[in-house]
Amino acid sequence: MTPSRDRYFDHAATTPVDPRVVREMLPYLGEAWGNPSSIHACGRRAKQAVEHARERVAELLGAEDPSEIVFTAGASEANNWVLEQFPTGAVGPFEHPSVAAVARKRGFSTLGNDGFALLPPESPVEMVSVMAVQNEVGARFDLAPLRNWAPVAHSDVTQAVGKVELDLEAVDFASLSAHKFYGPMGVGALYRRGAPALEPLIYGGGQEGGQRAGTLNVPGIVGLGAACALALDERQQDFDHASHLRALLLDELQALDEWRAVEAPSQSPFVLALLFHGTVGETLVLELDRQGFFASAGSACSSGEPHSWASLRALDVDESWGRGALRISFGRANTTDSTRDLAAALRSSVSSLRRLKQHA
Ligand code: PMP
Repeated sequence: MTPSRDRYFDHAATTPVDPRVVREMLPYLGEAWGNPSSIHACGRRAKQAVEHARERVAELLGAEDPSEIVFTAGASEANNWVLEQFPTGAVGPFEHPSVAAVARKRGFSTLGNDGFALLPPESPVEMVSVMAVQNEVGARFDLAPLRNWAPVAHSDVTQAVGKVELDLEAVDFASLSAHKFYGPMGVGALYRRGAPALEPLIYGGGQEGGQRAGTLNVPGIVGLGAACALALDERQQDFDHASHLRALLLDELQALDEWRAVEAPSQSPFVLALLFHGTVGETLVLELDRQGFFASAGSACSSGEPHSWASLRALDVDESWGRGALRISFGRANTTDSTRDLAAALRSSVSSLRRLKQHA
């Protein structure tokens, strides 16, 4: 079965690769096979493609120079890499596990919060890391204060880049993954303002100026560059589309009772976290799946751990509400019709689950 793209509402987990991105990648999986480190013509062609992609990433991020971009295997690697540079640090309470786990391992502190408002570190630290858009609930965080909180600021912009307006003026480092905005999986980048030399995370050959060893993933990098170029042209349109569908879904759910949406003061329209009292998120996901709709009960990275949303923990959401958490995340191929159909499927699934529970 080929899943229907318009019924896929899990774009925060991953986006389908845009066919235009696939087209740009294909030659590098075929006739253009060179290793960009080779000095012959095949290598030079691959190298040129990599550098073109680097320029496209830099342009989307508003980086001053392409040399500020280092390619990685994704945002997890980029996040790990930055956090490993500093002896002390503080991270937001809503961070992705690829930030939170390294912070824990290194004994970094966690910033306090009052709802979605983050509080400054309690003691001086050498770096602070706060994501731009939260992956479970779509909350946007203001990066501007970070400058005042530590000498170095990092932001995980994985759920923001190519989607919402991003001002990297406030940060020194930013991490991203291609597959969250219609590029391929397994490739991403770290933005380093001013291209400072970092202690490598991966040692070996001299690729990426000696900063990140390993033969470059040329097709993936080309795909990342292509996704950046599309995002530059289509970001506003995508944003408006997601805003429209999100509002529509909320409206279509009004007939249900005992549910609420998690709404941040500043919100990305691409993510909608819904809490349905008296249900279980995973069961809802399976019930929607049975009807051909794809959503998520938590981020893919924390699947298997029920009630494990970092955001719900940070917000002190009661377990009775947190159990019924469902994440809907919008993308280019969703339509008004498929969103209305999703709402209908949700209304009936929630109602029947609650009825079943009453009779259990
Ligand atoms: N940060 C955030 C906010 C994410 O949503 C994700 C993907 N779930 C990552 C980092 C990690 O990205 P990847 O798995 O591509 O390394």
